[in-house]
Amino acid sequence: MQEIIRTRTRKKLEVLDLTPRVADVVTRSGVGEGLCTVFVRHATAAIVINENADPGVRADIVAALDKLFPEGMWEHDKVDDNGAAHLKAAFLGPSETVPVGGGRLLLGTWQGIALVECDGPREREIVVDVRG
Ligand code: ZN
Repeated sequence: MQEIIRTRTRKKLEVLDLTPRVADVVTRSGVGEGLCTVFVRHATAAIVINENADPGVRADIVAALDKLFPEGMWEHDKVDDNGAAHLKAAFLGPSETVPVGGGRLLLGTWQGIALVECDGPREREIVVDVRG
């Protein structure tokens, strides 16, 4: 089963929890045991799995990305002025795969699936692919 999740980001750089929406697709897929791939269809956004309990972790991800990839010094800035956003997205990667067992995502207690917006605000499309 495949579904597209659409979301609107609000900030230039932010981390948005997708876990409940992905879990809902897994439930409706009826897959008991298999894999769930979450893939963002954009070059300036990424998918990560990390802690979703303490919002400080999301703030730290944003702060660390800004330190690693400062704005305004990249070759691609000459084209559309968002070279740093592409580097942040490339560093994190566009997808994650989570095992499915007992009909649900086998995430750890503190883990969640999140979209990292690197060049918002924008409309984003995320493919959720569940296979048994
Ligand atoms: Zn660009």
